[in-house]
Parts: sequence; structure tokens; C-alpha cells
Amino acid sequence: MTVGSSVGAQVEALVVNNQQQAQRLQANLNKSSIYCGGVQKEVRHQIVQQLGYTIEELPFKYLGVPLSSKKLNTIQWYPLIEKIMTRINSWTTKKLSYAGRAQLVKTVSLGVQAYWAQLFLIPAKIIKLIEGLCRSYLWSGVGYVTKKALIAWDKVCCPKYEGGLGLINLKICNRAAIAKLCWDLANKEDKLWIKWIHAYYIKGQREWKMSNTASWMVKKIMSAKVTVDQAQQEQNKRKGVLRHIYYHMTERKQRPAWPCLMFSNVARPKAYITMWIMMNQKLSTVDRLVQWGLEVDKMCVLCKNAEETTEHLFLQCQFARKLWEILLRRLDHQGTVPVVWEQFQQWCVQNGKGKRTTAQMFKTVLTEGIYGLWIVKNNRIFEQKSRKEESIAKEIAYVTMARIPTNISKMYLNW
Ligand SMILES: [Zn+2]
Repeated sequence: MTVGSSVGAQVEALVVNNQQQAQRLQANLNKSSIYCGGVQKEVRHQIVQQLGYTIEELPFKYLGVPLSSKKLNTIQWYPLIEKIMTRINSWTTKKLSYAGRAQLVKTVSLGVQAYWAQLFLIPAKIIKLIEGLCRSYLWSGVGYVTKKALIAWDKVCCPKYEGGLGLINLKICNRAAIAKLCWDLANKEDKLWIKWIHAYYIKGQREWKMSNTASWMVKKIMSAKVTVDQAQQEQNKRKGVLRHIYYHMTERKQRPAWPCLMFSNVARPKAYITMWIMMNQKLSTVDRLVQWGLEVDKMCVLCKNAEETTEHLFLQCQFARKLWEILLRRLDHQGTVPVVWEQFQQWCVQNGKGKRTTAQMFKTVLTEGIYGLWIVKNNRIFEQKSRKEESIAKEIAYVTMARIPTNISKMYLNW
């Protein structure tokens, strides 16, 4: 008996066997194909003759994703890029705030992460392109790559407690997903592909020696062993292996104190994002526009008394001070807003930390206050509209009461 007919007979036996087990599930010859790897031409011919299926070449698409054990080339990644571009372009017609755009960007990266990034090692070039598209849409609302960004993408992708927005870092997430496959291999989970790799390549060795005959993908998975070993040594406080590996792979950054404002804050999303950019000191105040080489009037439009900087606009300007005074009085807060940036940050932490109801109320009002000042200043410049401090404070009180949980709002009935 030749090797070919032996393989054919085995495959046939398997098919017949399966058909007997599930008699209603008969394979449709027109809709089924056979994919061979490492099989000689004559043998392939014999298999086709015996089974009647057509032979196709890898990679083929399964649920829109090309399946291959080889490295995909740039052209093969095009469907993914095209999908992302179509989605982003369908959004660019809508006029959305940073907050709305951040939400949409989140759905794109989650989609890539849940689908493509779990199956393939995505080339650095493709990740850079995807991130470029997401970044440009977030900051400029466009469907092509631009350079404009108020906050670096790495920072945007940091967790909130490190001062970021908590978006996914695709590059790390992708490497973590591949390492997760390696983790499964090392822990010998009961899956067919794992049994197969163990039988053919690992063969019970403690130190995994890379086989030259292994496919590109198998090699990539096996080479993540170092990362997996390191991650396994750490105490796992996180739920899920993938999360644990992702955390292990991300660089720990120094945690600023102000991100306590990012939690239990019920301000409107557009106010929330403005506060986040402001606390990172990246709002496009006039002093920063001048640094970028723009010729603009340096004076603060609200008081016309000093140059506009973040510190002036939100802390020192007499307009801001009046607004804060009204808001703090309404909150029954005894202090005043500090006029120096560093002290302001400390003051925010003192009042906004923890789960106290007063902290939640403080954070929300502070965030809406920052947004109110930012909008009133922009409206003065671009629409020559002016509003009084009392009117802004009234709106902030109204918005806060509408959004804050009722158990807290009933404590502030005089609002
Ligand atoms: Zn001013």
C-alpha cells in the first residue's frame, strides 16, 4: 500500500466515520474544499480522486479573516485596513465631540483586538497605520492620517490611573494574545492544536527547542515562552490570563495623583475629556498656539488683563475666580481654588479622592466648571458671544443635578 492511498483511506475513513456520527450533516461537495500542507503532488491527486473535493490554496478566508500559518504580506492585510477606513469614513460626516470620537475609536480597537489580533501577529507597519487612522480621527475627525494630536497616542492608551484614557495599546495587546497561545501550550490545555504541537515539536522536552520545520506562526507562538515564563512567576491578581500577560507587558509609569478625578465622575463626556486634556496641560491655550508658530492675540479674552495660559484661564483669571467662587459656595465648600498649578492639583486630589459623596459631587462640578470656562472663552473668540458667570454656574448646577445619582442629589436640595 502506498503512502498516498494510506493517507486517502485515512481521510476517507474519518469523513465516513463523522458522517455516520452525524447523519444529517452531509458535506456539500460544491461548498467544500481540501487544503493540503506538505503533501506530495501525486498524493494530493489521489486524495482528490477518492474524496471528490477540489483542492484550494492557503490562505483562504474564514469569516472574512485569511487563515494561514505563514506570515501574511501587506496586501493580505488590506481587507482589515479597508474595513477600518470604511467605518471611520462613515463617522466623519457626523460632527462629534472628542468624547464621541474616543468612544468610536474604542470600538475599532476592540474589534481588531477581539478578532484579528488574537489570530495573527500583526506587522508593526500595519499597527502603525491602524493607530495613525484612529489617532487622526480622534483628534481631527478625519478619515486619513494626519500628524495633529494634543496628547501622544501612547499616553491615550495608558490606563486611566496613569493619566491616559484607557484605550487599548494594539501592539502590546497583539503580542499578549500570541503569548496567551503560548501559555495554553505550556499548560497543555486539552485542545486539538495543542496536542498536535506537543506531539510534533515539543515532544516532552522541558526546554523547547525550535524545530526548523515548524511554520512561521508556530515559531512565533513558541518564541513567546520567555514572556510567558516571566509572567507566570508574577502573582496573578487579575482575572484572566490575557489580562495578566497584557499587564506584565506594559511598562509601569509613574502614577500622577490627579487621575482620581477620572473615576466616579458623572460630568458630561465632552466635559470629562476637556478636563482630561486640561489636567495633562495640553489644551490649546493661546500660549501653546504661539509656541506652534501661530500669530494670535496673546491676551486673555475673558479679562483682557493678562496673557492666556492654562494657569491663568482656569485659576487666576478674574472671570474664572468668580465662577469658582459661586460654585464652591453652592457646594458649601470652605476653601478657594489655588492660583498656582501644582497647588491646584493637590487641592483637586484632597477634595476629589475616595468614594465620598462630597468627592463625587466635587469632581463633577469641577469638571463641568473647567468645560464651562473653556467653552465661554472659545465662544468669545469665535462667536463674539459673552455670558455671565452666574448664568454658567446655573447651567452647571442644572447639569450636575440631572446626572448625579439621586441619593447624592437629594443632599443638595438648595441647588
Ligand atoms: Zn483672564
